[in-house]
Amino acid sequence: MSGQADADEATHQHHDGCGCLPSWYVDTLGAAGLPIQNNEDYAPPPEESYGALFLPDTIEKGYHVEELKDGVYWLTTGWYDCMFVCTGNGVVAVDAPCSIGERILDAIGSVTNEPVTHMIYSHWHADHVGAARVFGDKVKRYGHQKTRELLERFPDPDRMVPTETFSRDATLDVNGVKIELSYKGQNHCEGNIFVFAPRQKVLAAIDIVAPGWVAFKGCDSSDNLSGWMQAHDQILAYDFDAVVCGHVSRYGTREDVLAGKEYSQDLLAFSRQAMGEVPLQHFLRQLGSGPYRGAYRAAEENFFNAVANLATKRILERTTSDGRRWTERLNGADVMTKNNVSTMIDKMRMELNHHGYMRREGPPSGFYP
Ligand SMILES: [Zn+2]
Repeated sequence: MSGQADADEATHQHHDGCGCLPSWYVDTLGAAGLPIQNNEDYAPPPEESYGALFLPDTIEKGYHVEELKDGVYWLTTGWYDCMFVCTGNGVVAVDAPCSIGERILDAIGSVTNEPVTHMIYSHWHADHVGAARVFGDKVKRYGHQKTRELLERFPDPDRMVPTETFSRDATLDVNGVKIELSYKGQNHCEGNIFVFAPRQKVLAAIDIVAPGWVAFKGCDSSDNLSGWMQAHDQILAYDFDAVVCGHVSRYGTREDVLAGKEYSQDLLAFSRQAMGEVPLQHFLRQLGSGPYRGAYRAAEENFFNAVANLATKRILERTTSDGRRWTERLNGADVMTKNNVSTMIDKMRMELNHHGYMRREGPPSGFYP
């Protein structure tokens, strides 16, 4: 292709029927993949997502405590939450988020005089267990062996390494109260476990589902999206009445997990579909012909941006299984979906069959326009 043809391609004005991609793929969409410019353009949050967000004690004290069932308590700031279990002769704390910090002792002390004798790390992340030190160094600390490995490798005085570890399953019996720990493989991160109080039917499964809210960006900052998606079914396999999820302002129900699962399936299905439809060559031609120009990365970036825009638009316009759109079901769906789609596109390349498998017959699979 000549230099003049390159220039024509670069300045070509797209129009309906010109055979090129519609301009909205790349030109007119805001950060969330929709033409959003002002605060008022964002969907109003569904009221069912509020939970403890605007309760007087949350606003006044910074946290809200609620007994879910027979000594199992939910503790939330309205954006981070955790769980603790009163056993009659000692409290088992499940996580100690930084955002609750030292007030976790006030919160526990508001419902019991029992001391904290045990602590469980759901996973090693600082935002969920970074206040572990407030319980002192005498408590027994349980966690997966991966959690121990990670905290030994990256030491943090505020997250002392677990004293008791396990690989697949462990059952705690603290003063007759049973708590089951289970590791089902990497999802949000390595060592992220399920914590279940079987008699009370309360589960803690952290950073998988955000009840009433859309998954936080990066599909809840997940290391392994296949594991993250699978974890929804693993939660559903428990006989639970309530699930403490780590975020945002509510504990979850079975319906919340099903909604999260459906949303994650949309992310995958529409990302795959868009990857198969948007031609990279279009974006390479915009920058001129020939492989490995200096701006090759720009073509890739424009391509992935277009794929994300297309998948995001379709997900947000879709009527979901309960007859509503995602913006009507999940708080922040219009804000986070493009980021979640981008993460899905990124991880698909590594966790699923590669898009550009090269075969003996047919043209080379490389991105040569
Ligand atoms: Zn985490």
